[in-house]
Amino acid sequence: MIGACPDCGDGAASETPRDGDGETVDDHGGELAIKQLRNGSRLVGCTRYPDCEYSLPLPRRGDIEITDDHCEEHDLPELVVHSDDDDEPWDLGCPICNYREYQARQNGSALEAINGIGEKTAEKLQTAGIEDVEGLKDANPDEVAEEVDGVGVDTVRDWQADPD
Ligand SMILES: [Zn+2]
Ligand SMILES: [Zn+2]
Repeated sequence: MIGACPDCGDGAASETPRDGDGETVDDHGGELAIKQLRNGSRLVGCTRYPDCEYSLPLPRRGDIEITDDHCEEHDLPELVVHSDDDDEPWDLGCPICNYREYQARQNGSALEAINGIGEKTAEKLQTAGIEDVEGLKDANPDEVAEEVDGVGVDTVRDWQADPD
């Protein structure tokens, strides 16, 4: 267990539904645990699953270390992922904070949010020092076209005009 479930754990605001016949379902608050699924993926999930479906994604690879540092906001331990090769360990941090950051990236600041930019192009742009939509909109189209293979000035202007 790494902490209380934010949906149904101790102190959670929402009340869990009871059985139809008035039986009280296990009153004990749910807790979060790191689980390994049969398909090999991992997640932080609630011990009351399937009554509570709260879950947070975890990377598929690497050993997950539970550190002694705690996120003050969520009272969860910060996680570090050690990969199999010699890469630096990845400070994933609090799994809830990590997931929120991930969602924020998905919600528009990522370059892929722009029409016509796929994963490969986004990578090339990042290599050229353009990290996100803001960075792209501030960039000089001529310089971007110069730096990024296969991208013309007009294309960059189109991207910059993209309303998102
Ligand atoms: Zn729960
Ligand atoms: Zn947190």
